[in-house]
Amino acid sequence: MKDCIFCKIIKKEIGQSKDIIYEDDKTIAFLDITPAQKKGGHTLIIPKKHYELVTDMSDADAKAVMLTIKKLSKALLQFSQGMNIIQNNKRVAGQYVNHVHFHLIPRFDNDGILIEKWTANKYNSESDRLNMVQTIKNLLKD
Ligand code: 5GP
Ligand code: ZN
Repeated sequence: MKDCIFCKIIKKEIGQSKDIIYEDDKTIAFLDITPAQKKGGHTLIIPKKHYELVTDMSDADAKAVMLTIKKLSKALLQFSQGMNIIQNNKRVAGQYVNHVHFHLIPRFDNDGILIEKWTANKYNSESDRLNMVQTIKNLLKD
């Protein structure tokens, strides 16, 4: 897509090709320009084809992306103590670049990164919870 930053990185129009960590026919992995992790290693993994949301990806591209996530995770977990995989869909969820991407964020003791620190809430009632199970089941498609 013409005005997409990540499509420009794929086409090597911006950034430097030496910043690319991994590339195959369907996916590419590169360092985030403003890493959440000061020690480094915050890696973005994207399909080469432009899709906006995770739901837009073809099955083949979704599988390829997951394999690249697994490959990169194996590398990152060798120098970090843990790792988060984050993927934001739509602005309300924190998506600012409209080319689907997965963040791999290496983690260390007391690194101060706030990702998993959401409040653990309770459901209003058992029927609320079961209604949600049913609602999602009804929305599942092939
Ligand atoms: P989002 O908030 O959309 O999930 O994450 C977008 C990410 O893309 C941000 O972490 C941001 O730092 C990164 N980013 C934005 N522009 C560029 C760029 O030109 N190069 C690289 N390598 N990362 C970028
Ligand atoms: Zn794009």
